[in-house]
Amino acid sequence: MGTFYLVATPIGNLSDFSFRAVEVLKSVAVIACEDTRTSSRLLHHYDITTPTLSYHQHNEHRKVELLMEQLDGGRDIALISDAGTPGISDPGFLAAREAHKRGHTVCAIPGASAAITALAVSGLPSDRFLFEGFLPSKKGRSARLDAVVEQECTVILYESVHRIGRLIGELRERSGDDRMIAVCRELTKQFEEVIRGSLADVTKKVEDHQNIKGEFVVIIAGKNYKE
Ligand code: SAM
Repeated sequence: MGTFYLVATPIGNLSDFSFRAVEVLKSVAVIACEDTRTSSRLLHHYDITTPTLSYHQHNEHRKVELLMEQLDGGRDIALISDAGTPGISDPGFLAAREAHKRGHTVCAIPGASAAITALAVSGLPSDRFLFEGFLPSKKGRSARLDAVVEQECTVILYESVHRIGRLIGELRERSGDDRMIAVCRELTKQFEEVIRGSLADVTKKVEDHQNIKGEFVVIIAGKNYKE
């Protein structure tokens, strides 16, 4: 029996990595990486020379078996994604499920996740929240947005730079000018920024930005929240 480690990695700042994460990645037989080239920077920085293999959403079904062979053979293995916590809008769930089914130990090494980092920094209610991850870009998007704006708890969305302006417009169309949101950009990186306020304010601030770049988490306050 082996141990399957799901190891969280930094979401930008390489110093946000735990001692235990480094120890585990040095000790396992192989590290499955979402992108071996992306992860090589982190692994090199921490002098981790463990062999890697690629494991991403397009080969996940096929590679689960390969990972299980390692565990069945009594070897410990780790999974990391490009950034943050594996399994959270990233590959991880299928392998964790299969490892459990086969009776292996599944062990999470906790660390950063953009969702929780953004929620904490947003200054919006964090006692109850719904993680929606990425909305579909086309089919089903409108229905999901309708459901998001009806939530009474805080909602967390991931969005790409290509659609961030569109998303803010779609939310404003559905819930009006006053709904509070926080657009959290480039967390833990050099140009980290929290653009917070009513949808009307945030629309203006984002428009004034001209060519806004980076990675984004959008936090939307529940429908009855006022401040
Ligand atoms: N597993 C990751 C986690 O735990 O945060 C999420 C992976 S998902 C493929 C990538 C998305 O997370 C990005 O498109 C962005 O929405 C968000 N994200 C990741 N890093 C971020 C950062 N430093 N600042 C803001 N958002 C970030």
